[in-house]
Amino acid sequence: MSIGTDSVVTIHYTLKDDAGAVLDHSEPGEPLAYLHGHGNLIPGLEKELTGKDTGDALTVTVAPADGYGEYDAALVQSVPRRALRGIKDIKAGMRLHAQTEEGPRAVTVTKIMGDMVTLDGNHPLAGKSLHFDVRIEGVRPATEEELAHGHVHGPDGHDHH
Ligand code: ZN
Repeated sequence: MSIGTDSVVTIHYTLKDDAGAVLDHSEPGEPLAYLHGHGNLIPGLEKELTGKDTGDALTVTVAPADGYGEYDAALVQSVPRRALRGIKDIKAGMRLHAQTEEGPRAVTVTKIMGDMVTLDGNHPLAGKSLHFDVRIEGVRPATEEELAHGHVHGPDGHDHH
């Protein structure tokens, strides 16, 4: 069957940046399984997979707007270190969950200068063009339970229950 809304799709993928550096990949023997049409993949990749079938291989370039979003400088803020008390050994590159006016948000510590810590609320891949090599390993209809949960179960899915 070809891929459409409510398909459970199993893929192997490699994700590279503009320079060709590998950012992420599926593990050999452990393809990624996802429920198509439910926002579980970035929109630019999901769109290109629609209508494809088992055995198809494709190379997809996804612009930031169809990936993890444009980089938003307004999501970068500096806070005094004492605002982060309770967090030990703050280092650049750490991922934290910060309380913001809009609720909890994942942020990355990008810089520490004296008593000030710079937090970046952008997704680490925001603003990046994404280059995927994808091979489709399998396509099947989702079960009722998978549709109710909005994600994949079973041997190819994540452990959830
Ligand atoms: Zn579930």
